[in-house]
Amino acid sequence: MAADQQLPDAARIVIIGGGVGGASVAYHLSALGERDVLLVERDELTSGSTFHSAGLVGQLRADPALTRMNMYSVELYRKLQAGEHAVAWTECGGIKLASSSERLQEIRRQISWARTYGLPLGEISVREAAELFPLISTDGVVGAAYLPSDGCIDPSQLCNALANLARAGGVRIAPRTRVVGIDVEDGRIRRVHTDKGEIACEIVVNCGGMFAAEIGRMAGVRIPLIPMSHQYLVTEAFLPERGDPLPTLRDPDLLVYFRQEVNGLVMGGYERDPEAWTATVGSYDAVPADFNGRLLPENWPRFEQIAQNSQIRVPDMADIGVRMIVNGPEAFTPDNEFCLGETEVGGFFVAAGFCAHGIAGAGGIGKIVAEWIVEGQPSLDVWHMDISRFGRDYRSPRRTLARTLESYRTYYDIAYPGRQRIAGRPLRTSPAYPWHAANGAFFGEKAGWERVDYYETNASRGDGARRPNGWAGRYWSPAIAAEHVATRTMAGLFDETSFAKIEVSGPDAATLLEWVCDNRVVRGVGDVTYTQALNRRGGIEADFTVTRVAAEVFSIVTGTAFGSHDMAWLRKQARRCGARVRIEDVTGRDVCYALWGPRSRKILARLTPANLSNEAFRFMTAQQITVADVPVRALRVTFVGELGWELYASSEFGAALWRDLWSAGVDLGLVAGGYRAIDSMRLEKGYRVWGADITPETTPYEAGLGVCVKLGKPGGFEGRDALVASQERGPERRLCTITLHDPHSVVLGNEPVRIGDRIVGRVTSGGYGYTVDASIAYAYLPVADAEPGTSVCLDLFGDWIDGVVAAEPLFDPAGSRIRAS
Ligand SMILES: Cc1cc2nc3c(=O)[nH]c(=O)nc-3n(C[C@H](O)[C@H](O)[C@H](O)COP(=O)(O)OP(=O)(O)OC[C@H]3O[C@@H](n4cnc5c(N)ncnc54)[C@H](O)[C@@H]3O)c2cc1C
Repeated sequence: MAADQQLPDAARIVIIGGGVGGASVAYHLSALGERDVLLVERDELTSGSTFHSAGLVGQLRADPALTRMNMYSVELYRKLQAGEHAVAWTECGGIKLASSSERLQEIRRQISWARTYGLPLGEISVREAAELFPLISTDGVVGAAYLPSDGCIDPSQLCNALANLARAGGVRIAPRTRVVGIDVEDGRIRRVHTDKGEIACEIVVNCGGMFAAEIGRMAGVRIPLIPMSHQYLVTEAFLPERGDPLPTLRDPDLLVYFRQEVNGLVMGGYERDPEAWTATVGSYDAVPADFNGRLLPENWPRFEQIAQNSQIRVPDMADIGVRMIVNGPEAFTPDNEFCLGETEVGGFFVAAGFCAHGIAGAGGIGKIVAEWIVEGQPSLDVWHMDISRFGRDYRSPRRTLARTLESYRTYYDIAYPGRQRIAGRPLRTSPAYPWHAANGAFFGEKAGWERVDYYETNASRGDGARRPNGWAGRYWSPAIAAEHVATRTMAGLFDETSFAKIEVSGPDAATLLEWVCDNRVVRGVGDVTYTQALNRRGGIEADFTVTRVAAEVFSIVTGTAFGSHDMAWLRKQARRCGARVRIEDVTGRDVCYALWGPRSRKILARLTPANLSNEAFRFMTAQQITVADVPVRALRVTFVGELGWELYASSEFGAALWRDLWSAGVDLGLVAGGYRAIDSMRLEKGYRVWGADITPETTPYEAGLGVCVKLGKPGGFEGRDALVASQERGPERRLCTITLHDPHSVVLGNEPVRIGDRIVGRVTSGGYGYTVDASIAYAYLPVADAEPGTSVCLDLFGDWIDGVVAAEPLFDPAGSRIRAS
């Protein structure tokens, strides 16, 4: 929009922020046919974090979806460069060095899963690395990987090119226009106020970079990110003229990265003592109103360690002059992942918090967010980037800061599966927490909850010889096997208080839930139903149990980490349907203790007058009973494939209930167990985990959950039409159970599965089944390869391990244990 043009008073979609994020969302919206889009920028395009980026475009990330998004970015940047929009894209390749044997393991693991989506990442020798980047000293380098399609780009040119393409597609762009307020009515976006007038709109996309939290507050929404100071230096020219530019180079063990800049080097990194800018433990971020086109003063003392490390890897760095040091602020999040998607305010989207990889991510981010807006959901499973993953605890500036600093300082650390965060613990605890701590619990943390992984005190009953090889054996204890076996043979008591609990009530509660769920959930009071909630494409958006508590009251129980996500999904559906419902997070109100195993009935019977027989208390039903002195809602359900109950009681009874359950079972062999034993048992029984085995990209039919789908229920349900169409086409892949021939080889997730020389799938989850005595992996395989008995190979850290597709479930296929009389 020319400077003299009037700001429109209405637009369907308003994008706030003219950095690379906003420009990419604008371009991709126009590419999807959106014509009524306005981008407002408070200063000039690129004047936020974008203009001072180092411009490295690396594709490989720990998350498969993000890697695929970055691969799309590269495709796009290549196309831009080849067309009329020169963006200085240089496809120079990228090297990642391993300066430790553990890092080499990580690299080999990444190489193996990169194969599953055609990323040409390959291992190279130390000598080859030195040939590609002759400036390095190879002292201490034990291996390397090379990705020929990585590169560098000019961030400002990229932003301008995307903005020009968006303009050509009909998007209006208003620079020097500051948003000062956002109106929300009935939970939906209505208009934005700018310093040049108001704009009525249906959708706002907050692409405010490090200002995104401030913009969020205008709509009453918390975007948990922190403007962090991030530095790199540019050396004097010292490189001889050469034909091809040097590849980018990362040495995560030394915390540094490099790229060529004309005839010098850019060098930056992630220091161990990071510094937040403008956010403190007691206050939210407050970026000055005139902070555009500006940098922060250089901070040499904080850069010292990075500078010294850089000299270890590139000795020339000791002698070369520094032309400048760039200290730019950038938005980091508490878990180093983006904040994308629709917030709790209808029509208010966010695409921010890019944690110093917004240039690499911009193409994919724009595409995903545009799809989310136009089609209602993104085409990839971006749960790890979904803004709804953050619970209420991130309203606290102190917690956000502590977690963000921790993520920044450990940015380059090896992400061992099962690695635990330290900052801000303990936060959410069960009333039985002191008991767990006193009895040797090893805690894992999820969504702020301290959860028992296993009790080290049970280790002496387990078999240490079962420790898996390599990384899978790292966070492992014989206690896991002991707790598993005790539950299968006697009984186990598990604290599942962290389960997210949602209550849906009101005159339209039944209608809403029938629309949201693929299963029939509106049954008799006391009936419990396992169901999925699907998106329009038939992908699984959520997976939970619904208990009808009263005519107009339903209780939903979902995974610990999924509470805010599932609430957001339900609220969005309720808004769309105009349903008169109340949707409430009641997670903290009740404890949940699971008592499972062949002796569970006998133990519970000691504490309750209720009739626990199969006839009086059927599987998948709930009853209000008393247990010892405590009023309890007992659900006869299982996640381990054994007889048993989940017991829900108001939190103030929690300590007493745990104590009495424990006392009632000790002489019958009751063992207190943790989540690792549960996981092992659920793998044997074929129970799926959302976010791994089932995701928004997979349908219930592919996942083997067709039994939950009630295509014929009156009124239909969200996603039904897509499921019908997919049934007509016939499923292309199916979730399969694989057992590995070597019991000490245990998968961690994402390993490729090969048949002959074809890569046919990728592991979704796995572990060891201590009853079936097998290493188990789940993976989606083409239907033609999914027959039990099919031989497969799985790549674990570069070694191909033989396995076979097995009939599922591996444990108790007839379900006789659950229905035990
Ligand atoms: C030193 C440094 C090095 C980096 N190196 C790399 C790298 O090598 N590779 C990589 O991939 N990434 C890198 N990054 C990260 C990358 O630069 C960022 O992730 C990216 O530029 C962020 O883009 P954005 O659009 O989210 O934010 P921004 O570029 O900050 O854009 C946000 C825009 O919103 C506007 N705005 C804010 N409030 C309002 C309002 N109220 N009304 C209207 N407009 C508003 C701002 O003026 C701003 O222009 C680096 C970052 C830094 C700091």
